Amino acid sequence: MTLEYAPAPESRDVVRIEGSYGLFIGGEFVPPLSGGSLRTVNPATEETLAEVSAAGPDDVARAVAAARAAYEGPWGRMRGGERAKFLFRIARLLQERSRELAVLESLDNGKPIRESRDVDVPLAAAHFFYHAGWADKLEHAGFGPSPRPLGVAAQVIPWNFPLLMAAWKLAPALAAGNTCVLKPAETTPLTALLLAEVCQQADLPPGVVNILTGAGDTGAALVSHPGVDKVAFTGSTDVGKEIQRAVSGSGKRLSLELGGKAANIVFEDAPIDQAVEGIVDGIFFNQGHVCCAGSRLLAQESIVDPLVERLRRRLATLRLGDPLDKNTDIGAINSRVQLDKIRHLADSGDEEGAVRWSPPVTLPERGYWFPPTVFTNVSQSHRIAREEIFGPVLTVLSFRTPAEAVAKANNTPYGLSAGIWTEKGSRILWMAEQLEAGVVWANTYNRFDPASPFGGYQESGFGREGGRHGLAAYLDV
Ligand code: NAP
Ligand code: MG
Repeated sequence: MTLEYAPAPESRDVVRIEGSYGLFIGGEFVPPLSGGSLRTVNPATEETLAEVSAAGPDDVARAVAAARAAYEGPWGRMRGGERAKFLFRIARLLQERSRELAVLESLDNGKPIRESRDVDVPLAAAHFFYHAGWADKLEHAGFGPSPRPLGVAAQVIPWNFPLLMAAWKLAPALAAGNTCVLKPAETTPLTALLLAEVCQQADLPPGVVNILTGAGDTGAALVSHPGVDKVAFTGSTDVGKEIQRAVSGSGKRLSLELGGKAANIVFEDAPIDQAVEGIVDGIFFNQGHVCCAGSRLLAQESIVDPLVERLRRRLATLRLGDPLDKNTDIGAINSRVQLDKIRHLADSGDEEGAVRWSPPVTLPERGYWFPPTVFTNVSQSHRIAREEIFGPVLTVLSFRTPAEAVAKANNTPYGLSAGIWTEKGSRILWMAEQLEAGVVWANTYNRFDPASPFGGYQESGFGREGGRHGLAAYLDV
């Protein structure tokens, strides 16, 4: 007997969405000087949520000037202990307004409310709490007796964890004494604008945080503005390379958090049910829109069939649909563009001879949806085994020996993360040492903590976010 679930939608009434939004510059919402406007939609329904401003070059100049004035003014002169109070205040306000933020994030991004409520928002608050603790202890962080901030930071973030990525960028920058101009992604600007309101509520001095909504050209204008001292970017490897070219020779400090194609490696002695949960978490969390997603399952040859069988049974229980429903596991794909990209790459899997499987699911008629998908019969040369799909698509490969697992896992231009599933502690340590990945999880996956540095190798970028190492990206060390 299968039990039916009654709908359990979270109420939308906890958020008030304005019809249109200005840019957040110098502590106030202002109309753009030179840009136009953009619409942001709910990807689960294609309904327009709001119109936001698209900042043009004059707006970028104004925001950078506001950030500079704050840096040379009150913020730059403030003691670390005073800065910490503002960060603590923002953290507490994020907690107080968590329900509102979670609903808004799910509406604008399409992710299940269970994830925005239990992961995105609490981790965003945790990042502010953690970094508040560093603000008055920078001289004990191992960077010399009086490490200096860099100045004005230009920060550009993607759409997959909109509020959380904003927190990853702003919290360490502010703790270290910098001021910021942040550009959220075009399809998910709303929680960043609510965060701007939180900054006002926290009485953050004007200009310390500025938020410019807009498309890629706003981001390009921001990172190449001569008044910027530091550029921090999270997004695709292609845009990361473009930014690296744009800032080279300018003396600006740069950190890049880019794409990935991680291996989640399961040995035959692994606890299989736990591994299945880890595989599901690794690739179907946030519709697979996760840079460190475990998108390549490497299973030891002796267990491939039973593992895939159990995985299929588990996937058949996942619930896809309304992101605001508290029982939903899989939400909407963030945009039409991303859906087309996922479809295109999945089709290439069919064409190259891999075998596609999805559980029986009914996709809603409106909105952007893609079912959880597993490809078997995959070879390492297939596009689906090499390219980042950034969607709910898992490719299954096999290996015989630990050495072969390492060779296959490292056979990628990326190097952001990896997972290892085995009962054997010595094997975990040996594997972790061999894997060229910034983060290696053992018998778990997609765990995040503000104290733990995160970042990549090779085409996954450079620089770390989180922990003591993350502070270095915002200090003159
Ligand atoms: P994207 O196209 O690179 O966009 C990221 C951000 O850059 C957006 O705000 C985008 O604006 C802006 N942008 C676009 N062109 C620009 C330019 N020429 N100069 C400056 N900024 C520009 O990436 P995406 O497709 O939205 O995001 C997915 C990618 O991000 C994936 O590859 C994923 O792996 C990566 N990611 C990495 C991490 C990590 O920590 N390593 C975390 C999350 C995501 P628009 O939104 O208007 O295009
Ligand atoms: Mg949207």
